[in-house]
Amino acid sequence: MQRAAEVLMTSKRVVFFTGAGISADSGIPTFRDKLTGLWEKHDPQRLETAEAFRENPALVWGWYLWRRRQVSQAKPNSAHLSITQLAKAGWDVSVVTQNIDDLHERADSKGVVHLHGSLMSAKCFACHRPVELTSEQLQIAEEGRLVEPPRCARCKGRLRPGVVWFKENLPEEAWRSAVRLVRNCELLISVGTSGVVTPAADIPDMALAVGATVIHVNLEDVGLDRANEMMLLGNAGEVLQALLRSVGVE
Ligand code: NAD
Repeated sequence: MQRAAEVLMTSKRVVFFTGAGISADSGIPTFRDKLTGLWEKHDPQRLETAEAFRENPALVWGWYLWRRRQVSQAKPNSAHLSITQLAKAGWDVSVVTQNIDDLHERADSKGVVHLHGSLMSAKCFACHRPVELTSEQLQIAEEGRLVEPPRCARCKGRLRPGVVWFKENLPEEAWRSAVRLVRNCELLISVGTSGVVTPAADIPDMALAVGATVIHVNLEDVGLDRANEMMLLGNAGEVLQALLRSVGVE
């Protein structure tokens, strides 16, 4: 912690690279948590593919409506809030997230880069046009419900969530912004990510390659013990609050 605090004290440009673990304390399960209730028999990674949507669009649309409801009922936790606090204390802070929730935005982080899209958006599966959902279309969200996706007003294709599914490319603009921020940072703090979903998982390496320091914050040891790499083990909210305190930000 002391070494991490020293690096933070001498770094101006800081990128937070976040994953599902940062939202765990807000009650949003990560991929490592077992699903409960009516979704128990489903593997989330199997619901998050174009094949799954083609095979059973109502199942996949229902799953995302439920997740959207779960997120809308959740609140940012102290980890999300610590990031904003650091920015308000004068650091040049950017956020690059793999999360599809909007908890960074609701914690008042600015210009958040979403590498995997957003639960709050939708697009046409056929013509790819982005579509705003009506509040009525968003309402049906009880757990375990199959819900037939609405149709695109232009081509009548099915609407799908505006997120990146397995085997799909990342949104080009988001990826370019992330690379620009990471190549220009002095410190990258990677919070609550298992680092297995590529290419997003290559981000810490990219920071190390330009001479930045990387601090991992996770319940498990995910660091690789390279020079300029540190591991702070623990709950994201508690560790980030302790880090902020040690640089005099309360
Ligand atoms: P992951 O589920 O693979 O890994 C989560 C990591 O967070 C694990 O390493 C775990 O040890 C750590 N963790 C869990 N609780 C923590 C806590 N309280 N404090 C600190 N660390 C904690 O998630 P990932 O690496 O983000 O990658 C998988 C994909 O999951 C991403 O593409 C993302 O889009 C998707 N996802 C997003 C959400 C969300 O938007 N909130 C939720 C689930 C999955």
